[in-house]
Amino acid sequence: MTIATETTQSIQFPDWDVERVRRDFPILSQRMRDGTPFSYLDNAATAQKPRSVIAAMEQFYRCDNANVHRGVYGLAERATAAYEGAREKVRAYLSARAPHEILFVRGTTEAINLVAACLGRRFRRGDEIVLTGMEHHANIVPWQMLRDQAGIALRIVPITEAGELDMGKLQGLLNERTRLVTLTHVSNVLGTINPVADIVRLAHRHNLPVLIDGAQAVPHMRVDVAALDCDFYCFSAHKMFGPTGIGVLYGKEAWLESMPPFQTGGEMIRSVSFEQTVFAGLPRKFEAGTPHIAGAVGLAAAIDYLSGLDLAATARYESELLEYATAHLLGLPGLRVLGTARDKIGVISFVMEGMHAHDLGTVLDDRGVAVRVGHHCAMPVMNFYGVAAAARVSLAFYNTAEEVDRLVDGLHYAVRILR
Ligand code: PMP
Repeated sequence: MTIATETTQSIQFPDWDVERVRRDFPILSQRMRDGTPFSYLDNAATAQKPRSVIAAMEQFYRCDNANVHRGVYGLAERATAAYEGAREKVRAYLSARAPHEILFVRGTTEAINLVAACLGRRFRRGDEIVLTGMEHHANIVPWQMLRDQAGIALRIVPITEAGELDMGKLQGLLNERTRLVTLTHVSNVLGTINPVADIVRLAHRHNLPVLIDGAQAVPHMRVDVAALDCDFYCFSAHKMFGPTGIGVLYGKEAWLESMPPFQTGGEMIRSVSFEQTVFAGLPRKFEAGTPHIAGAVGLAAAIDYLSGLDLAATARYESELLEYATAHLLGLPGLRVLGTARDKIGVISFVMEGMHAHDLGTVLDDRGVAVRVGHHCAMPVMNFYGVAAAARVSLAFYNTAEEVDRLVDGLHYAVRILR
C-alpha cells in the first residue's frame, strides 16, 4: 500500500494490507457526526475486537452456555470443553509445558495480585523484591501492600533518560535478601521492550524467580515462556484483541504447586467438611467461583485471529508507522517525546510546551482522534520525566498513516488555538 500525505512524498507498506485487516474490526468504520473518520490511537489502553472474537462469544452464549466442570448433560460438557479448549489454546500459543500452568484470571492486575498474595505469603521482614522504575501501578501497589504487611523492602531498578532499564544497576540490586524480580516486558508509557530473557538468566543465576507483566507485549509479539524460562508471565486478553474481564497467569508448575490458593470457595476444592477442606489440583486450585467462560472463548478466538496473521509483517508495519508518527510529531514546535528506547513498540508519549495534555486530548477528540491523556497508571515514570500528565499515542497493526496525519493536523490546530 502507498500513502501520499501533505507532509511527506509517500510512505510504502508493501507487505501489509491494512485496509483488509481493518475490515475485520467493525468499530473502526465508525465516523463522527460530520463524517470525519474515527481514528483509534489508544490501543495500549484496550485494543479493538475483530468480528471473529465477537462472533465466538455470541455463539457461546447462543449455543453452548452452561457452567463448567459441573453438569453431566451435553450442554455443560460443551461449555467445559470450550473453556478447557481455550486453556489448551493459550498453552500452545505461549509454548507452556502443561495446560495446568495456565490460570485464567480477570487480567494482568489480578494475576499480579495473585502472585503477591500467594507467593508473598512466604516473604519475611527484611526480604527484598526487585522491580523497575517503569512499572504500571498494577506491578507496584500489590508489592507495596506486602511491604506494609510483611515488612519487605522494594528495590527499584532505575531507568535512563532514554527510557531504558539501567541494567548495570539491576545487577547490584540482587543479593541474598532478594526473593523475586518482577518487571514489565514492555512499558505502557515509553514503549520500551525490556531485555527480559537476559534478566531471567541473571535472576536465575541468583536462584530468583521472575514475574513478567506482559500486558503490553502480547499484542505485538509472540511470547514463548519456555524459551524465556520465566517463572510467571501474565497478560490481559483485552489488550490483545480479546474481551475484557479475562487474562492469563502462566506459572511454572513447581511454583504454582508450592503456593497456597488465592481466593477460596466453589470450583477450587476437592472436598469440604466443616473440619477441613482439601483443595483441587492445578489449575482449579487458583480458579475459585464461576469463571468468565465466554471470556476464555473470546480469548481463544483472539489467539486464533493473531495466529492467522504474519506477526513478523505486523511488527514491521507497526515499526514503520511508529517511525512515521515519531518523525511527524517531532516536527511540531515544543513537542517532547518521553522515552527514546532503541527497542520499542508503537507507543509515543509526549508533552507540548505550554499546553495541558487534557486540552490536547479534547481538541483531538473533536476531530475524531482518540488518544490517552493523563499519568497512564505509571506515576513514577511521569515523576522521572518531571511531568504531571502526557498524551499517549499507541498504535496497532490496523492503524494507518492517514490516522497519524489526522493526529498531527489536530496537534497543529491545537498549537494555533491553545498557545
Ligand atoms: N501492566 C501494564 C504494563 C499495563 O499496560 C496495564 C494496563 N494499562 C496493566 C498492567 C493492567 O492491566 P489490566 O487493567 O488489564 O489488569
